[in-house]
Order: sequence, then C-alpha cells, then structure tokens
Amino acid sequence: MPPGEFELIERFFTHRGAAREDVRLGVGDDAALVAPRAGAECVLALDTLVENAHFPAGMDARFVGHRALAVNLSDLAAMGAEPAWALLGLTLPSADEHWLAGFSAGLDTLARRFNVALIGGDTTRGPLTVTIALAGSVPAGAALLRSGARPGDDLWISGTPGDAAAGLAILQGRLQGQGRARDALLHRFQLPEPRVALGVALRGIATACIDVSDGLAGDLAKLCAASGVGADVESRELPLSAGLCSIVGPEARRRFALGGGDDYELLFTAPAGHRARLAALEAGAVLRRIGVVSETAGVRIDGAPPEREAGHGFDHFAG
Ligand code: ADP
Ligand code: MG
Repeated sequence: MPPGEFELIERFFTHRGAAREDVRLGVGDDAALVAPRAGAECVLALDTLVENAHFPAGMDARFVGHRALAVNLSDLAAMGAEPAWALLGLTLPSADEHWLAGFSAGLDTLARRFNVALIGGDTTRGPLTVTIALAGSVPAGAALLRSGARPGDDLWISGTPGDAAAGLAILQGRLQGQGRARDALLHRFQLPEPRVALGVALRGIATACIDVSDGLAGDLAKLCAASGVGADVESRELPLSAGLCSIVGPEARRRFALGGGDDYELLFTAPAGHRARLAALEAGAVLRRIGVVSETAGVRIDGAPPEREAGHGFDHFAG
C-alpha cells in the first residue's frame, strides 16, 4: 500500500532545513509558531512552480526541490533580507516515494545552507505544483525596493546573465553544447544560486534592486517603471560567461543575456560614489556596471529599444 499523507509528511517534511532557535513549533500542529526578532521588519514572498510552465516535465526531483526554494530566496535577496522560515504547498499526482526523497533532499540541502527552517505546509493530490512561502527579516527601513533608482545612478548586475536560459535550451534540444561549457550552463539552470549575501551587503548602498527571473531587459523595465526613471545599457559591458561564449555567437549571446530568464542574479542601481566599494565587494558573485539610470523613461540598449524577444520578459497570460 502506498504511504498515506501523514506518513509522507512525517518521512519527508519533518525536521527539514536548518534547526533555528526562533522556531517555537514546526511541522505537526495546526500551525507553526515563530518568534520574530524585535525591531526587524518581516519580509514575505511566495512563488509557485508548475510542471511544464516553470520546469520541464521529468526534471530531476532534487533540482525541483532546489529551485522551489531558490526562487523564493532570490526574492528575499532582492529585498536585502535574511531568510528564516518556509512553508511548503505541495500538489502531487501520486505518492511517489522516490520522487519525494529527491525533492526533499534538494530542498533540505539548500535550506540548511541558507539557515531556513521548513516549519509547515500542505500536501494535496493533483498536477505537480510546488508553492513555497518564505519569510525573513530586514532591519526596519533597510529593505531594498524597486522604486528608489534616481537619474545618474549606475546600473549593476551580478554574475553572468543568460546562462540559465542557454542551459534550458540545451536541455530542450534547441541548442547544441559539449563538455565543460554544456555542464556549466546546465548547472546554472538546474541549481540556481540565490544571491542572499549580496542582497544583505547592498543594504545602504543600492538605491533599487530586483532579481532577474524573467530576463534582464524585461526586469530592468519593471525596476525603471517602479522608480519613474529610464535606463541606458551598454551591451559591450554585459558580463558573459566563457560557457555561453563558447557555444553561441555574439548576437545570440546578447539575446540570451538580455532576454533569458531563470538567472536569479541581482540587478540594482547605486550612486556613482559607491563604485570602488562595489567593485571590491566580496559577496559570492562578481559585479559589473552595465549602464546608467536616466530621466528619460524606457529601457535602451546601445541607444535603441530592446528587440522584442529580449525586452518583454516572461508573461504567463500573454496572448
Ligand atoms: P491540517 O489538517 O491542519 O491542515 P495537515 O494534515 O495539512 O494539517 O498538516 C499536518 C502538519 O503537517 C501541519 O503542521 C502542516 O504544516 C504540516 N505539513 C503538511 N504538508 C506539509 C508539507 N508538504 N511540508 C511541510 N509541512 C507540511
Ligand atoms: Mg492542512
């Protein structure tokens, strides 16, 4: 007989992630109890992954568990927050123990690395869907918002955008790649690294911040709209990985870097006075200055509006 719901929860979702002293009561009661830090603001985010829409069907369950938490960690990173507690809503077509073991291991490993406790959730039957709600904290008033960019600020990006989209294209057979380059790009799609330490380090430095989930140009447009500004990006400043450069030509590189999703890098603005400090910052990712914030609304790449495929980002309801 397949295990029941309670046995599954007991086996795969009890005592997962970090053991935190501020968790008074975790999985097992009607709700969890936590003790928020005095004087801090609570930061909350929720993201849902639907099979086929957010990850390919048949993706290794470990990667699904990692991704479900990583996308939420990235949202908290973009706010400059420290993550703490997660709730998991899991909808499964069947009680597949092998899949659950992989999924919970992927989630658990990442949660421990970022000191996140899994404190509760809900388990239901249906098409494979994973929702995580993540809570964390930031000192009062210190959160990084999308709305603070000012004309004249520098525009910065962490890491090497475009890699994850190239990794997905390889997985789906739309792009050919071999050897180390292929492995590196696949890794960037399968195990995205949320920039939590960077987000915390940017408190008091960045004027606005967003995580790049739908593509650099599209997410930049969101940041600009929230701040009531525009931006000019110089494409020759885009940091491109050796892997990406070795498998596609200059035009396609640019398209991946500007339009590719799933990178979970941080895109942020900062006054020019912080250049030296940012260039020397060691927070897990290389930072590159790629442009400048302007008074003129809209995003321009080398002076022109982004190409359609790069500029819009992903929209689930777009016709
Ligand atoms: P209730 O009947 O109150 O909804 P459940 O049977 O859904 O309770 O859940 C029992 C306990 O297990 C609760 O503490 C709940 O938070 C936890 N839980 C259920 N599903 C999950 C899951 N997928 N991950 C983590 N905790 C879960
Ligand atoms: Mg319930």
